[in-house]
Amino acid sequence: MSDSTAVIYQQVIDRLKAAERVLAVTHINPDGDALGSLGFFGELLASFGKVATLYCAGPLPKSLEFLPGFSNIITDKNSLSMADFDLIVSLDCGSVSRTNLAKEIANRSKQQFFIEIDHHPSLEGASDLELRLTEAASTTEILFRLAAAADLKVSPTMAQALLTGIITDTANFIHPTATPDTLAAASSVLSQGANLSRLSDQTMRTKTLGSLKLWGIALSRLQLNPRYNLAFTVLNEDDLKNSGADYDSIQGIAGFISSIKEAAVSLILRNENGMVWGSLRTSRDDIDLNRLARALGGGGHRRASGFNLPGRLVCENGHWSVEYK
Ligand code: 5GP
Ligand code: MN
Repeated sequence: MSDSTAVIYQQVIDRLKAAERVLAVTHINPDGDALGSLGFFGELLASFGKVATLYCAGPLPKSLEFLPGFSNIITDKNSLSMADFDLIVSLDCGSVSRTNLAKEIANRSKQQFFIEIDHHPSLEGASDLELRLTEAASTTEILFRLAAAADLKVSPTMAQALLTGIITDTANFIHPTATPDTLAAASSVLSQGANLSRLSDQTMRTKTLGSLKLWGIALSRLQLNPRYNLAFTVLNEDDLKNSGADYDSIQGIAGFISSIKEAAVSLILRNENGMVWGSLRTSRDDIDLNRLARALGGGGHRRASGFNLPGRLVCENGHWSVEYK
């Protein structure tokens, strides 16, 4: 750890210890890293003798209910009283807009301090203090280091939450984001009581009949666009509603279609709540999907990024297009 990073870890720890009422938030449509980070953070604060309020706009994938704090996560923003908090911490959000609290955070009072802990590239510099490590494979990898810097005893439940973020964000250590440091962190949390085979069952053997049928629909619509070296597919609102599938299954589809050989980039577009949501994936080093997603108002990582735009997917004679609003 460089000296400057060590200073930031210490500053974060000091802020957490000094705070009285802490709100922790992770991003909308949370994944294993988002909810693993949020759950671990709740436990971290508990070890400092504090209760953190955990917020996520959801929807919360039921498959992740084994994570600590899951049942305490508030999903209804109206039940948060923002003025109550003296510290707000966002985890794994990529952008403040993904907290669903962008206005509240921008309008915070002088007494309210805002910390971002994240492994996404910075978009806006909105926080008072940021612990941002883009070389970390997951936000839980950063929290692992934070716990070590605080000399914290990590319980098996906490260790499992940390491992969840690492294995879901690296797709079981296969993405190039999984560095020797990531594997060392995973090895440490296994020594602290995390259980990799149980976690694989909890994160991989969780697909419902409906979500696998949704995969079938998405795969049946898969097309190649040779001009952009792109494989793409679409899901409309009815497909999603009828299957009852959650965000987890959609991410699974994005990951699966990205294994296609004939294209450099894969894209899944889906219609939900008057918006078109896009998930982009590549395994090529010379392509930066974060830049592409940013041009569309979204963001993410070089190899996995996303965006959402107001509009509707329409199909005419087997040809899909986006109708903008
Ligand atoms: P996914 O395709 O799984 O939704 O997202 C892939 C990556 O892009 C994740 O790291 C996610 O946080 C990021 N991402 C997805 N949608 C958005 C967005 O609308 N804005 C930003 N800043 N990042 C996004
Ligand atoms: Mn993450």
